[in-house]
Amino acid sequence: MSIAENYQRVREEIPDNVTIVLAGKTRTPEEIDEVIEAGATDIGENYVQEAEAMYDSLGEKAKKVRWHMIGHLQKNKINKALGIFDVIQTVDSLEKAAAIDKRAQGIEKPVSIYLEINIGSEMTKAGIKPEYEVIENLVREISKLEHLSFEGLMTMGPRFGNPEDSISYFRKTKNIFERIKALNLPRVKTETLSMGMSNSYKIAIEEGSNMIRLGTVVFGERNLKNS
Ligand SMILES: *Cc1c(COP(=O)(O)O)cnc(C)c1O
Repeated sequence: MSIAENYQRVREEIPDNVTIVLAGKTRTPEEIDEVIEAGATDIGENYVQEAEAMYDSLGEKAKKVRWHMIGHLQKNKINKALGIFDVIQTVDSLEKAAAIDKRAQGIEKPVSIYLEINIGSEMTKAGIKPEYEVIENLVREISKLEHLSFEGLMTMGPRFGNPEDSISYFRKTKNIFERIKALNLPRVKTETLSMGMSNSYKIAIEEGSNMIRLGTVVFGERNLKNS
């Protein structure tokens, strides 16, 4: 099946309120172009430089979709990132949020950010430890930053061969999400729960995700050399 067909098949099988972010890493501009033509609304990139190259090669078409930073954002790349991305999904400290806020002055609209939760407390993964009080405090502090708009949580979750094993991690993340939402903090829009990838998106949606990030299932296997 073609990329367009793969995208449309997933789009049809999931509820309308779930946003699909297509992970663009290692893909060519032609592949991203094809998926945008097929109706894709959101593209995710892991690196600022690759996002920039992709954005430039897509020309006018790049402006038709929302761009999400889904990789680790280095401090010295924030300015460039703000020129491309609509959403930074990987904020994992107040320091990082403050650095983005500072550089977002002068941008018309507040920059949308999600907090990345390291739900499995994995040493090798980025993100905030899944301690509710820590996360709540962080959201409270971030809500005071005028050029940012806190809009949700993102998690990678541990990668298991068997997606069923992710259930408890997805549940924990959803629980934190609901508790933050219930605070009804001013200037806080707890709307998006970004969890689930190619191997786990169906289960993630069952567990309350409303944004999935897909690469392989739409574009095919990545070349391992540069994934
Ligand atoms: C690559 C990537 C995905 C998509 O991975 P697939 O398993 O190919 O669907 C999702 N989220 C992040 C942060 C990624 O880097």
